[in-house]
Amino acid sequence: LLADLICVGNELLTGLIENSNSGFLARRLWSTGIPVRESIVVADNLGSIKSALNRALEESDLVIVTGGLGPTDDDLTRESVASILNLPLLVSEYWMNKLNQIFLARGFAMPQNNLKQAHVIEGSVLLENKRGTAPGLLINHHEKIIVLLPGPPHEMQLIFDELVLPYIVKHNGSKLTKVKTLKCFGLGESALEEKIKKIGGADLPALSYVARGYEVNLQIKGSGDRYTADAYINQIEQKIREIIGDFIYGKDDDTLAGSVAELLVSHNLTLALAESCSGGLLSDLLTDIPGSSRYYKGGLVAYSRSAKQNLLGVDKEILERDGEVSESTAQAMAEQARLLLLADFGIGITGIAGPESDASQSPVGLVYIAVASPGGCACEQLTISGGRRVIKERAAQYALAMLRKALIETVREVQK
Ligand code: ATP
Ligand code: MG
Repeated sequence: LLADLICVGNELLTGLIENSNSGFLARRLWSTGIPVRESIVVADNLGSIKSALNRALEESDLVIVTGGLGPTDDDLTRESVASILNLPLLVSEYWMNKLNQIFLARGFAMPQNNLKQAHVIEGSVLLENKRGTAPGLLINHHEKIIVLLPGPPHEMQLIFDELVLPYIVKHNGSKLTKVKTLKCFGLGESALEEKIKKIGGADLPALSYVARGYEVNLQIKGSGDRYTADAYINQIEQKIREIIGDFIYGKDDDTLAGSVAELLVSHNLTLALAESCSGGLLSDLLTDIPGSSRYYKGGLVAYSRSAKQNLLGVDKEILERDGEVSESTAQAMAEQARLLLLADFGIGITGIAGPESDASQSPVGLVYIAVASPGGCACEQLTISGGRRVIKERAAQYALAMLRKALIETVREVQK
């Protein structure tokens, strides 16, 4: 199976909105072993959508179109597809009732425009949208699968994962390629490869490495029927875990923040932060995760010296003697955060995000990260190259990895 992606929307062409749908779909398809042949963005325009569709249908077996299923006159995806396939649009009574219910629940009558969203292409399967008014459509036409999905990413993603992917997998039948990603932290790409080479033999071609900041995504590919592919992947995964198990924090869509959150929740532990150069990014990452109030007590962005001294209570002498960007300041920040918020763990991050250095003339990108645990305080010094955003992101990422390590050690201690 080969796929084409078409994202429809003027706002994508002007750059007003970042095209995230194509990335999402490509990743999902890729991990199911379906390569994307071409992925394009077209305007809300009958001619453009139709010519893109024509091309895609010539070359690929699966064509996914996102966007342009809305209620307004400029939403033309349905009409374009119907015209290309030479099929009529019919009214779905089912979805019309659904729309009436949705608007009733919102407390007003359905605008006449929205009726358009109950139009389905003859012979298509309606893909229910639990998060919006535009349903998706799936058409199996002359050996080709055409899928229309609404543009808003959270609507599109749910429909794709719940309804489209299972259909495609089933349709694809016995032959498939599966990919499992092991998420690693603490080893560079080449160090990782070096260690894994020891597995040796014919298994190595099934592996690929993708570095993202300090993390490496290690992808294992298996093909065959579903069982052979799974068995093969599991077997390689096991061998890899034996060698680098400690460096693997998760799989597939897991994030470092998510894995830390899981550890905190499952052991009933809490966290407080004191961030300087990361500007609250770590707090942001942690509060993106549902249920963060269960472990995240709060954080202070102690950016200036006076915030560190007066709000956070870092010893004046430490600041004067060692400076704001120093191991002792990071440790004091972590410990004060932990103390003031009565948390089990505290993190302190201080560094120089640049582009200019501070009075101390320390190099740009110098960052100290401290993690205060029940058992003591650990601190590490990093030198990060890159712009301000990169420095913030890497610092936050590294802090999460240090916290994860501290959490695992603490839990091990308690269990002894
Ligand atoms: P609606 O019923 O909301 O109009 P729709 O299916 O017509 O849905 P569009 O009008 O194309 O979808 O897009 C609606 C919104 O969805 C856009 O304003 C944009 O915020 C988001 N969106 C659409 N396509 C994409 C995309 N490829 N990547 C990210 N966001 C997108
Ligand atoms: Mg729209």
